[in-house]
Amino acid sequence: MSKKVIVIGAGFAGISAATTLAQAGFEVQVLEKNEGPGGRARVFDAEGFTFDMGPSWYWMPDVFDAYFERFGKKTSDYYELLRLDPSYAVVFGEDDFVNIPAKKEDFAALLESLEEGSAARLEEFLEQAAYKYEVGMRDLVYKPSRSVLEFADTRLLGALLKMDVFTSIYTHIRRYFRHPKIIQLMEFPVLFLGALPQNTPALYSLMNYADIRLGTWYPKGGMHKIIEGMVSLAESMGVEFVYNAEVKDFGFQGKNIIEVHTKESIYRPDVVVAGGDYHHIEQQLLPKKYRQYGEEYWDKRVMAPSSLIFYLGIDKKLKNLLHHNLFFDTDFGKHAQEIYESPQWPEDPLFYVSAPSQTDPTVAPEGCENIFILIPVAPNLEDTTDIREKYYEMVMSRLEKLTGQEIRSHVVYKRSYAHRDFIGDYHAFKGNAYGLANTLMQTAVLKPGMKSSKVKNLYYTGQLTVPGPGVPPSLISGQVVAREIEKVYK
Ligand SMILES: Cc1cc2nc3c(=O)[nH]c(=O)nc-3n(C[C@H](O)[C@H](O)[C@H](O)COP(=O)(O)OP(=O)(O)OC[C@H]3O[C@@H](n4cnc5c(N)ncnc54)[C@H](O)[C@@H]3O)c2cc1C
Repeated sequence: MSKKVIVIGAGFAGISAATTLAQAGFEVQVLEKNEGPGGRARVFDAEGFTFDMGPSWYWMPDVFDAYFERFGKKTSDYYELLRLDPSYAVVFGEDDFVNIPAKKEDFAALLESLEEGSAARLEEFLEQAAYKYEVGMRDLVYKPSRSVLEFADTRLLGALLKMDVFTSIYTHIRRYFRHPKIIQLMEFPVLFLGALPQNTPALYSLMNYADIRLGTWYPKGGMHKIIEGMVSLAESMGVEFVYNAEVKDFGFQGKNIIEVHTKESIYRPDVVVAGGDYHHIEQQLLPKKYRQYGEEYWDKRVMAPSSLIFYLGIDKKLKNLLHHNLFFDTDFGKHAQEIYESPQWPEDPLFYVSAPSQTDPTVAPEGCENIFILIPVAPNLEDTTDIREKYYEMVMSRLEKLTGQEIRSHVVYKRSYAHRDFIGDYHAFKGNAYGLANTLMQTAVLKPGMKSSKVKNLYYTGQLTVPGPGVPPSLISGQVVAREIEKVYK
């Protein structure tokens, strides 16, 4: 008889784990507290607009391709991808917009126009970054990181020395470039990793390779098309999804979970994969004696930022916006300090605007614009309606001024989302959006472990364990945990 697995959470990591386990012959049920799949990548419809709630950047297309290929499928069986060109816009100030071209040669020419010699240095930088991407994404991220010995073969050790694990990306970038705009452009992809460039290993210049060489893509219809595709694939392989099924606690026999309890039902699994936020499962659902870490441990973790988000429906088309727009017109150093060093609501924040209806007419009614505004903020801040409104007015004033048009009077739908929603919807620790930051001290074996050391049949997956935050890492995390389970239970 096949062994039964309960996966908690239908986010990218949970669905990936469930599908990989079903392929290996396990009987899999996914219990999801919300009414639909996707977790932080859910979608909602309002007033004719379709809003992706979380991720909007489709990077590292090879990781998605490899995922579907593993099951004998192609990405194009589930959604149609477009490569965006320009990839995105960076707004440095009024009348100072830089469109980032998709072609590497054009990007190099852009850098050269800012700093002589930088095109040649970009080549060198990218050659190294390509090597890091190759080794990092082929080997390192697929390690379960349960022991340092996994990294101890000579080929990998040799590679690790070349991977700049102990230099910061901050220092690394400044060895190649001096112009402040180039530095900001090169540091931007690192922001996805949830930590300051000063605290992020230079290994992550692999993100620049992803940006400049692999490109920014968009699945027609929106990011949730990926989730729809993954769920349809999982169901075709026998995975059962149960929605509105929040796991409340467990029943134990010795060191094994033998029951998973929701309000409605009791499930009796052989193995449990926790794809919900690690801190919630371990600190709120497990009795103390089965927890591996204490609250002090969690309190010392460097969390990636939270976000204040506005989903807006606009009753006209907007000018001077691309699909992705980074508003870097204020001092990032100060904003970063307000996120990481002395957590507080930022005085004058950077922000990001996604306008998917610039590319995709299906996400907004005709003649309208769908925009998503995101301000990265520290986790664990007081989150009130008044504070959200203050930032709405602040950011909209800047957006209107910088893009030269009136927007507020054309808003026909508005929803805000921040810490208390992340906690209410996902049990997010401190209201984090992107999990645990990828600092050196929170890399690989130094992250909360994939396998519980206290409960024999409990495993963890998702953005708070290896390999880290982001959609591609979460997809990989699910595959890695499934392989660990297969080793023991098959
Ligand atoms: C605003 C935002 C923007 C982002 N932008 C990008 C981007 O552009 N590109 C990118 O690559 N990444 C981006 N990310 C990061 C990316 O979305 C996440 O890293 C990824 O989706 C995390 O997936 P996960 O499966 O680990 O967790 P989640 O998506 O959080 O899934 C966990 C699931 O577990 C469920 N759950 C929790 N507790 C329980 C319980 N007790 N019982 C049952 N179910 C439970 C939750 O409801 C949730 O559905 C963004 C994230 C956010 C929030």
